[in-house]
Amino acid sequence: MTNETKPIGLLGGTFNPIHHGHLRLALELYERLELAEVRLIPSAQPPHRKQPSVSSQLRLEMVQAAIENVKGLSVDDRELRRSGLSYTIDTLSSLRQDYPQQSLCLILGRDAFLGLPQWHQWELLLSQAHILVVERRQESRLPEKQKEAIKYFWQTHQTTSRDDLKKQRAGCIWLEENLPTLDISATQIRHLIATGKNPCYLLPQAVLNIINTHQLYR
Ligand code: ATP
Repeated sequence: MTNETKPIGLLGGTFNPIHHGHLRLALELYERLELAEVRLIPSAQPPHRKQPSVSSQLRLEMVQAAIENVKGLSVDDRELRRSGLSYTIDTLSSLRQDYPQQSLCLILGRDAFLGLPQWHQWELLLSQAHILVVERRQESRLPEKQKEAIKYFWQTHQTTSRDDLKKQRAGCIWLEENLPTLDISATQIRHLIATGKNPCYLLPQAVLNIINTHQLYR
């Protein structure tokens, strides 16, 4: 059951496969920002990249296995239940219907945030949710040299009061700086497996078991 007063964090991704980088990010934000929960939302057909090599069902199973019994993390399969491209604006609108009053926080890495003007109906995202921009330690600060559109978007909506994320249900951009993140990527894991190496310790053992059972990424 969702706590009505705390924001829900939303972390989308292909999760092909989910790994400790994603999981630490989600848990860190859950605890730092006192979120009701962080929902991991596997993408069916991401608009800006190739169709994932592994089926939606297996990627979902891997996320479920990874977060089993972890307080604060949950999985949301709504993008997998829709046909067509997985546009974030559609996902947010659907969540907004389910949670009319609750604060929603879309979690985006700095690179994704800077690339927003390429997203479908990007200017509508803030009508449905806040945007939580995550800056890793090694990254330079926001805003720097960016396209005018994103600079204006940033300047108009950024907040320096974290309470706004609770008081309002949408409309603010919050920058979370200095987040400790792990240098792990799904690409690296797929490459290790494809070349016969052991990806152990980069991802939960329960996820690795699913990969081994289905002979994924070989
Ligand atoms: P790939 O290597 O296939 O591109 P990925 O590991 O980057 O995959 P995604 O599923 O594309 O994983 O990522 C989902 C979200 O998690 C994105 O917002 C991404 O920026 C973030 N993310 C991925 N890896 C990490 C990490 N190691 N630390 C923090 N955030 C991460």
